[in-house]
Amino acid sequence: MKDMEKQKTLLKIQELEETISPLKFEQQLDNEYEKFKAKTWDRKRAAKAELTRGIDRLIDIVKSPPDSTPFIAMGDGKFGIKRGPTFTDKFAKALYTRSQGAGVRMHYVSEFKTSMLCCRCKSKTVKKGRQVLCKVGCQGAKRDRDDNASQNMANLTHHYVDNLEWPTEFQRPARLPAIN
Ligand SMILES: [Zn+2]
Repeated sequence: MKDMEKQKTLLKIQELEETISPLKFEQQLDNEYEKFKAKTWDRKRAAKAELTRGIDRLIDIVKSPPDSTPFIAMGDGKFGIKRGPTFTDKFAKALYTRSQGAGVRMHYVSEFKTSMLCCRCKSKTVKKGRQVLCKVGCQGAKRDRDDNASQNMANLTHHYVDNLEWPTEFQRPARLPAIN
């Protein structure tokens, strides 16, 4: 009886050793890693394809009036404080390359005050969640925050192309030169 129990315990230990044998564990880890890599690769490829599709749609929209001069003005805002290239950088780079190929001009424009000032009357707006409210100039008109900023950037770009100057309301205050 004692011997049988001893045998059972030994078998259990053997089983346990097999389950946690370093080689087996390493193989299992390798398998999992391969699976993970394949998944990540698929996800990255899908994201890249989605980005390309988005950019192509954008270029098509910009190019649609045939007798126009297509121009993309992209805000110079940086999102996220992560080190290295952000999604915005990758998007901008891909869009720039695609624009060049399609004969579309693309430039960065300053976003300074574009989300704060009203795109209609340039007075200061009040933030209401995703919207901005123009109390003074536009009798309480509400606009989507991003629509307002984009419209401002489009207006500013048009203004710049026509007059070669950036309206003072949207100019970044000049920094004082550094001493030392
Ligand atoms: Zn307004």
